[in-house]
Amino acid sequence: MSAVPKKILFAMSDTGGGHRSAAMAINAAISTASDASCTTVDFLRATRFPGLHKAPEIYDYCSKKHLWLNNLFFKKTDSVRRINTLTKMVYLQAGQHIERELAEIEPDIIVAVHPLVIGLMRLARERLQASWPIITVVTDLVTFHASWATPGADWYLTPTGEATNLLAKNGVSLQRIVHTGFPIHPKFAQARLTQTQARNELGIDSGKFTVLLTGGGVGAGGLGEWVSMLEKQCADKQILVITGNNKGLYNELKSKKMPSHINIYGFVGNMEVMMAASDIVITKAGPGTIMESAAMKRPLIITEAVGIQEIGNISYVEQNQLGYYCPSPELACKTINGIASQLCGENNPFDRREVITDGSSRIATFILQHMVGAGTQIGDGGNTLGSVS
Ligand code: UDP
Repeated sequence: MSAVPKKILFAMSDTGGGHRSAAMAINAAISTASDASCTTVDFLRATRFPGLHKAPEIYDYCSKKHLWLNNLFFKKTDSVRRINTLTKMVYLQAGQHIERELAEIEPDIIVAVHPLVIGLMRLARERLQASWPIITVVTDLVTFHASWATPGADWYLTPTGEATNLLAKNGVSLQRIVHTGFPIHPKFAQARLTQTQARNELGIDSGKFTVLLTGGGVGAGGLGEWVSMLEKQCADKQILVITGNNKGLYNELKSKKMPSHINIYGFVGNMEVMMAASDIVITKAGPGTIMESAAMKRPLIITEAVGIQEIGNISYVEQNQLGYYCPSPELACKTINGIASQLCGENNPFDRREVITDGSSRIATFILQHMVGAGTQIGDGGNTLGSVS
């Protein structure tokens, strides 16, 4: 009789595109190594708690129109104690909905890829007297909300040394922290297409220097203004604009008569092809896009930090020589021209080998080693993968 496949539950919320991308990346790495089944649940939605269940829409709206509100929430709640109290309040009201979801899935392990679900999962485990381990995968790089350090997870997997230090500063024991690298989808590191093949697949000019402009899952970061400026100042370049879930901007740009060197896309499912086709990526300081570009060896131009949690990513990009911070399109265009001359020939100065690009497979290995029945007990230190320095 064959064994029943193990069940892995990704607990997250669709605030931005990065948390779901992380779950999908780890899922893809797991599926190459195991027949475990993976389910992803937005547990902030599942709470049905007033306001909280609309977290994705609120994040979306505030990131584009009222960033100060996101930042105010960040500052007012940036403490493990406060988050614990708020989580308990939410659980009192919403525990039944969370427990119902969990009872349906019966997970063997929970992987939290969003900071605000860690405490909910811990409370559910206590209430249900369950034994599934909880692994937190931190998806912010450098400056992040204290809620990532919410107690209750058995392990905390970090993308950078800076993240390890910040978790420890917020009270997580170093024995529970493993530096695995960021969960970049394997499709980026194992890019199958050359630049010309990718351009042909997209049906764009295969001979033109190509700039990819993106603003994360929500299409934030003043994309509209950047398009108008690049249209004028980078007229000799081919520009691919990804509006993500920003449908308003997509419709607005599509309704205008755009010059032929500007191509507009909505939410794309083939970011690896878009990046393969490009020479350079312009983006807000989103961790997912930064690490995917690094894996694809595409230099970055960072336009701004959308939210306090992205501020440290700017210096991360500069210090690791992944690209440049250019808050104005004028500076960006000058930098793009400079990069265009550096990228000639074989030499790619943006091939940063020190950035870990196989984070998802390291995380997948760790998860598979720590599922119920996999032989490792909760709280035994459990670092069978070994941390990277
Ligand atoms: N993304 C995508 N399609 C799009 C726009 C974005 O798949 O049209 C993905 C992108 O590849 C990355 C994530 O969404 O994995 C964005 O994450 P990031 O951390 O850059 O920003 P966030 O959306 O979380 O603010």
